[in-house]
Order: sequence, then C-alpha cells, then structure tokens
Amino acid sequence: MQKSLLFTVLYSICFISSSFGQACLEVSEDPNFDQEEFDGFLTSFANKKKGNIKDQIPITVHVAESVQGASGLSNEVIKTTINRVNGYFNDAGIEFILCGAPRLIFGEQTYFRENADILNGQNYVTETLNIYFVEGITDPNSGVGGFSFFPWTRTPETRYVIMSWNFPNVAGVLAHEIGHYYGLYHTHASFLGVELADGSNCRNAGDQLCDTPADYNFLAGGLDRCKYVGTFKDPVGNDYNPNPKNIMSYAPSNCMSELTLEQSARINFYHTTDITYLTSECSFPDFLISSSEPSKSIRADEDINVTYDLDIDGDIKLNEIEVYFWLSDDQTELGTIIQKETITLPPGSTTLDLDFSIDFPINRSTNTYYLTAQVDPEFRVLEQEEGNNLHTITVTVDNSALEDQVVFANPVSNNILKIFLRDNSTKTELNFYIWDHLGRLHKTVNAFKNRDEYFEEIDISSLANGLYILEANFPDKGRSQSFNFYKQSF
Ligand SMILES: [Zn+2]
Repeated sequence: MQKSLLFTVLYSICFISSSFGQACLEVSEDPNFDQEEFDGFLTSFANKKKGNIKDQIPITVHVAESVQGASGLSNEVIKTTINRVNGYFNDAGIEFILCGAPRLIFGEQTYFRENADILNGQNYVTETLNIYFVEGITDPNSGVGGFSFFPWTRTPETRYVIMSWNFPNVAGVLAHEIGHYYGLYHTHASFLGVELADGSNCRNAGDQLCDTPADYNFLAGGLDRCKYVGTFKDPVGNDYNPNPKNIMSYAPSNCMSELTLEQSARINFYHTTDITYLTSECSFPDFLISSSEPSKSIRADEDINVTYDLDIDGDIKLNEIEVYFWLSDDQTELGTIIQKETITLPPGSTTLDLDFSIDFPINRSTNTYYLTAQVDPEFRVLEQEEGNNLHTITVTVDNSALEDQVVFANPVSNNILKIFLRDNSTKTELNFYIWDHLGRLHKTVNAFKNRDEYFEEIDISSLANGLYILEANFPDKGRSQSFNFYKQSF
C-alpha cells in the first residue's frame, strides 16, 4: 500500500485538455537535478551558435483509427507536423526524423492511462520516441488531449507520447508534450514555488528557467486571442508580463509557437544525459507486393488467377506470412475479406512469384470490382513501410455470354450444379427442388433472389448418377421453371 502510494505520487504525467486548452497535471521534480551542473551546461550551450549540426532523434508515429483515413493524418500531414515541431525545437540541437512509415493500429479508439500503457507495450518500437495519435483520451478529471512522461520517470520502453488527433494545432500540442518528454515544466509551474514577476527567484521557482517570464497560468484568463491583456499580479503585487506564445504555457494551443533558449538548453541537457537511448538506425525489413496484371475479366462463377511479385527487403525472421484478399465495389474501401492464404518464406529469399486462385463470390453481378491483396495483414513484421503491402487490381464481372436461364455444366461431373437466372423480378423468394424422373424429391434449397443476375451453386454429391429435373420455383410469383440435367461421375 505504501509502495503503491509512492508510485502514484512519482508517476508524472501531463494532460492536455481538449475542452479548455491544456490541463497538465504534473507532480514530480527531477530527483537528481543539480542546479550547478545545469548552470554550467547552460553557459556552454548558450555560447554555441545556431546552425550547429543537430542530433537526429528517430521517432515512431503510430496512428490508431477505427476507419481508415479518419484522422486525416496522411504521411504528408505527419511529415509536415514533424517539420513544424522541428522548427520549434530549432535551437535545442536535436531534430526529429520519422523512423519508417507511420504504423497503423486498428481497434480500440479511446484510451486512458492503463490501456495506453497496454497499447504502448504492444506497439513500442525500441530506440525510438514513440508517439501515438488516437481518436480520444479519457481521464476521470476531464476531457484530455494527451499526455507524456518526464525523463526521470519510468523506464525508456514505458515512456511515450500519446495524443488525440482531434485537436487544433497538432504540431504545437505535440511540441508541448515532447517538451515534457525532454524535461520541460510548464511556464506557470508552481510546485517548486511561485515565480515572481520580477524574475528574482526564477532559478528556484516556476519552471526553473529565467528567460521564460513568470506566468500565472492562462487558464485563469487574461488573453485576447494570443495577446496578454490581463491585470494579474504576482504574490508581492507586481504585474505579470507572461508570454502566451510559449509552447509550455496553458495558452490556447493555436497560440503556442515558441521555446526560449533556456528551454532549448534544458531539452538538450536531458537529450545528452537521461535520454540517450533513442539510437535506432531506422532500418527495418520491408515487403512490397505488385502484379503485372492490372485487371481481370471473369464470369461470376469463375476463379480469378493472379500472379504477384513479392519483394522482400531485409531479414524477415518468419517462415511464413499471411496474405488476405479483399473485395470491394468502391475503390476507396478495402471491402470484405474473401480469402486468406498463408505463404512460406524460404530463408534468404528476396523475391517470390506468388500464384493465387481466388474464389470469387458467385453472387456478384456484372460490374467492376476491386480486389486487393494484403501481405502481413496482422502486422507481424515491423516494417519500413506498411502502405506497400497492398496491391489492388480491377476485376470486371461480365456474365453477358450466359443465356438468361441456364443450368450447367450438363452433364455435371464435379458434383456442383450451377444455375444462372437473369430477369428483372429483382427481389423474390426462390426455392430450388431437384426431382428424379419418377417424381421423387431429392433436394431442396431455399434462397432469395435479390438482384437481376442470380447465380447459385448446388452441391449434388448426394445424388446417384442419372437424369434429374431442377425446378426453380418463385412462390411470390406463382411460377416455376424446370431444367433437365444429367449427373455423371467417374
Ligand atoms: Zn503540459
């Protein structure tokens, strides 16, 4: 009990509220912070000039969406966001680089502290700064837009940044959270003491930095858009002159655009002391699937035979991998899975020719469809780029060569009797009966005809060889059609 209480107190976390700007709760200071050491660091850091070579920090971006594309975080938007964050961090001597393509996560969309830890545990990419963009974050306290962890809390693999993608100025909010990740306090922090407006206690109070003016916390008001117009006074009666543009303030997120030199120095201080584990070379294996056959034309009862090329770049530590086939009549959607295959990966292979025979759903009418092959649909391999695991071809279904009413093959030798009916009695009950020549009923299939072109396959393996009559009965219409067929098997 004692231990868990201590853990709660030291568990440092910063929230940003989506409803009223930021609402970070932070409860701990760096237990190892040495003011003299930092002052020395600050002096030498300030003497270095801008334009120095920056250390590259690999980041892994994870995007969790229930509907593909819902976040609007395309690869381009993510790159632009990272570039803007890099602009804010320009003086900090570090530069964030995207490590592999953004990772896609499907499933649960609302996160709180516990399941965010689980999410991170399942998806954490070592030696990179892991940033999760999710649809929503809940907390008992309020609507929450994101949180992250100070460098002196937790182990490297349990430290991450998570934020809601439903937030204005995502780059500013992300910079704020990364600021905490690199040890920055809020400009209005007061747990070390309230910073006075004249800056006389700026080293020991507030955010422990002297070039960030004392800040009373903008949640109390005093802003006209991003300008301070308030009349707040500090504990000794002096007027505040805070900076609403500071990224570590609680000004509305669209105001946040600046970090000071001392903030930049503190970021670099933690970069070179505590956060030395972000060293990934960002070299991951990769699958790339393609096909030289952009389109196929079939009759609805036929299989689709497609040959794919699978390029395998790098070392895949698996003996086999799955390929799913999706079918959609809308180019913008994957649609439904119609087939799952498992392929073996011979050791050391770099390219594979894959031939698939795909069982097309017989109930699709004359139309154009989109068939998408997806390699490693469960993301079992951590890849450089997941977007190239998909390849889509168009499939044109053309039943025009078939007569309006036909039963085939005839004779039937493979135990599958196919029936095709084309008429415009679109929606109707439809029953199939199979009789022998003595009038005995052998099989009944109840169906529903919901489109003009109707295909049905009936398993006739239970029938002996011989002549039969198939009756297609439309009970709603009071009519029947009959077809003779002959079954023979060898
Ligand atoms: Zn914060």
